[in-house]
Amino acid sequence: MKQFDQLEANLLFCPKCREATPVRKRLLIVLPEGDKFDYVCSRCGTVSGDKIEREAPPMAARSIPAAMLPRNR
Ligand SMILES: [Zn+2]
Repeated sequence: MKQFDQLEANLLFCPKCREATPVRKRLLIVLPEGDKFDYVCSRCGTVSGDKIEREAPPMAARSIPAAMLPRNR
């Protein structure tokens, strides 16, 4: 078991630095499907990646009528 707690996306390849650099996570926009984050190179500030994180359950799951849900017997 290795400890990768902080390795989720701390290093990303930066096209400007031409190497994997530490990145900072920045909330870019909140989308219906989740929060979109930018990963910004901590050296030069170039956006080297992005990611959509789901935090809240999708609203569609709540709008399904109860009659359509499978029943547990
Ligand atoms: Zn960079």
